[in-house]
Parts: sequence; C-alpha cells; structure tokens
Amino acid sequence: MKPINKTVFITGTPGVGKSTLANLIEKKLSWHLIKINQFAKERKLFSGTDKEKGYKIIDLGVLCPEITKTISEISLDESAKIVVDGHLSHFCHGADLVIVLRLNPSILKKRLKKRNYSDSKILENLEAEALGVCSLEAQEIHGNIVHEIDVGKLSPADILNTVNEIINGEKSFPVGEIDFLNWIVDN
Ligand code: ADP
Repeated sequence: MKPINKTVFITGTPGVGKSTLANLIEKKLSWHLIKINQFAKERKLFSGTDKEKGYKIIDLGVLCPEITKTISEISLDESAKIVVDGHLSHFCHGADLVIVLRLNPSILKKRLKKRNYSDSKILENLEAEALGVCSLEAQEIHGNIVHEIDVGKLSPADILNTVNEIINGEKSFPVGEIDFLNWIVDN
C-alpha cells in the first residue's frame, strides 16, 4: 500500500471522538488543523437556521470550495500536512485519506446524553451511526480512500496509532466490516 502523506479528513457521527483525535494529530504530529464548525462560523458560511432543530445550517456549496482553497493554500508549503475535522468534512474534496470513526450506538448514547441534545436529536444520531450513514456517504464520494475504525475499545492514543498505520500504508480498514445494525433490532 502506498503511504498517504498529505491531507486527512476525520468524519463520523457527532460524539464519536473526531475532535479529540484531530486535536491529538495537531498536537503530536504538528499537522495543520481545520475544524469545519469553527471554520464555517468564522467565515459565516451558513445558509439559514433549521426552524425545527434550532441550529444553523452550514452551506456546503460555499463551505467545500473554501475548504479546497484553504487546503491548496496550506499545501503551498510542500511539507505541510493537514487534518480536517468535522461530520461534514466528507462532503468536501481534497482528501488523500478519509477516516470515519465508528462507535457502537449504545456507547455513543451515553456520550450524547452528556451533551445538551434533545431526545429526538440523540435518536437521530444513534440511528445514523447504526446505519453507518457517514461511511456510506463518504464512500460514495471518495471511494476506496475511506477507512472506518471501530473506536469503542480504543483510547485516543490507540486511535492515533491506528491512523498512523493507515497513513503509513501498514493497515487498511475498508468500509463495510463494521456492523452496528443489531442496535436497531434491539432498540
Ligand atoms: P466529536 O468531535 O466526534 O463530536 P469529541 O472528540 O468531542 O467527539 O468526543 C466526544 C466525547 O467523547 C468527549 O467527552 C471525549 O472526551 C470523549 N472521547 C473521545 N474519544 C474518546 C475515546 N477514545 N475514549 C473515550 N472517550 C472518548
């Protein structure tokens, strides 16, 4: 496998640990970090507010070209490496590798309950995780550069090691091997 050495997108359902991992990549590997939510807020890339759910909707049509442009600018420094953190990152282009973090919905539920999410928002996210929505979307857009990691039993440092192994071409975790569909049946 060819080592991947430039731009990594980290995606997955809210609460799976994307920011924790991306922050670690920035700190330990000194990569440039683009946090999609912060990036959109700073540049006011919103198309409106979801009236029912009350959150601002990021305009992907504006976000994605801005992300691509920013990646190109950072990449002018040939040694620069970039990590893009966000559950919308996989809708954008410019990745050499897309990592989807997966977490058993029963563990995710505990994490989301600690956030101020409504019951309906928690259920929506748990169902999305059980169905593997982010992985399917990412694979449709990015094909075989997408890998998914089941992080349920891994510490952030373990996840970083796994990502490093993928980056170095030592390991591969293609989409389709993680199956949380039982959670739907049991709930
Ligand atoms: P996301 O960015 O995907 O929404 P966060 O990185 O904010 O997720 O993590 C959500 C919560 O889970 C945080 O409280 C974080 O400390 C915790 N967490 C993240 N990664 C792990 C892990 N590998 N093991 C246990 N807890 C974790």
